[in-house]
Amino acid sequence: MRTKKIKRIVFIVISIIALSLSCKVFSPIEESPSPTATPRPSATETSLPDIILMDSIGDPFSPELGSSTYDVQNYLIQIRLNPEVIDHIEAVVEIEAFSLINSLSKMSLDFIGFDILDLTVDGIPANFERVGDKLVVDLPKPISKNQNFSVLISYDGEIVRRSSRYIPFEESIGMLFPDSKSLVVASEPDGARFWFPCNDHPRDKAIFRIEVTTPSKYLAASNGRLIETEEIANSQTRFVWEHPFPMATYLATIVVGEYERFEQMTENGILIRDYIFPEIQTSAFEAFSQTTEMLEWLESLLGPYPFDTYGHATVNIPGFSLETQSMVVMSNMMLEEDIVIHEMTHMWFGDWVSLDSWGEMWRNEGFASYFSWYWFYRDDLGAFNRDMASLTQDVLEVENLEALGNLSPANLFSYESYTKGGVLVHALRLEVGEEAFFEGLKLYFNRYGGMTASDEDFQMVMEEASNLNLDEFFEEWLHN
Ligand SMILES: [Zn+2]
Repeated sequence: MRTKKIKRIVFIVISIIALSLSCKVFSPIEESPSPTATPRPSATETSLPDIILMDSIGDPFSPELGSSTYDVQNYLIQIRLNPEVIDHIEAVVEIEAFSLINSLSKMSLDFIGFDILDLTVDGIPANFERVGDKLVVDLPKPISKNQNFSVLISYDGEIVRRSSRYIPFEESIGMLFPDSKSLVVASEPDGARFWFPCNDHPRDKAIFRIEVTTPSKYLAASNGRLIETEEIANSQTRFVWEHPFPMATYLATIVVGEYERFEQMTENGILIRDYIFPEIQTSAFEAFSQTTEMLEWLESLLGPYPFDTYGHATVNIPGFSLETQSMVVMSNMMLEEDIVIHEMTHMWFGDWVSLDSWGEMWRNEGFASYFSWYWFYRDDLGAFNRDMASLTQDVLEVENLEALGNLSPANLFSYESYTKGGVLVHALRLEVGEEAFFEGLKLYFNRYGGMTASDEDFQMVMEEASNLNLDEFFEEWLHN
């Protein structure tokens, strides 16, 4: 039975669910809270389109991505960008890697489009060819196992605009030029390869240094810390950003625009820097006003914030926000408390511990949804439990949902991942009990921080914390 008050809270929960489909480019979600409104895959969208499966990092869900023959340690991206010159990139990327196999003679990078002007390996010019969406480099000398090598690639040209098979309802992902006066990078899951050559899968995390040169009327922001700003010739400014934490390629971001920068330091020494367009300053300040409190709340539940910087860049794209590591990109149209807490939760779930397979999206979006709901009930666990029971009932009554453990690629960012995933998290909390639930989550970050984890890894951690066998629980929730 529901009282009037509970009905109202449930309505709030449902509104939050609707709004929290926020890690991707979505049509105005407020209008589409029902599961049937979620874009559904067609047979053609789910098949692999003209992909040459010549190399792979081994994610069965995304066999077209990555390589398992080398491991990237560092990306240095030097890039020249002007928001007024739409879709145009000039860049030099240096990749420092080591070989994972004996006698590595070819390496394949994920990279789509652009003219390659120069390519060297350890300073020696190297031959290369484009094979489908891979850039295949002939290494001048074979590389022994564990030996370091460095690849330098200069390129320029126009971005290829093509839909991701995981987000078929959007024209393209990666670097976007929305309005001739700003640009933004949002690459989840496979958009990084549309703007720089990389091993484009979370299994190969690396340290990034990103140097952006842009007309001086603009500010450029990226992940981590702005360590240098240099005025150079022709009214251009170079912004140097460094982020000394392992990061998946899809979380690398750049924003350029006529921003104002605001910064503050938390008591724990986390530097918060927000890049805000002046025309939306009031609503942005309002949305970001609880940043410190939210960080403290999440730290109390999940353990220490994993990085030393945090903040938001507002971007001029409707219905679009993404948990780009330590510098969340927030749609001007989504400056809401629940979106802020959702993306912040991803710093733990998705960024610090990333998915070992893209098919396990529930662990990213389910947890981000869950903690964004819980935030609003943080002082009343009883009410939260009651409303979650009701939401769980509703979710279980929805027909024809895909199994969370067997999503189709085009259904990755779906009602299933967000809402059923969030409901799963609550069911797990009830199954193992309060203490084991949070102990297990902290253990998960301790053990897999800076890396990826699989559903099996997650289950093992929760079993360790609770002393329960969770086979049946996960079988029920992931495979039905
Ligand atoms: Zn999300």
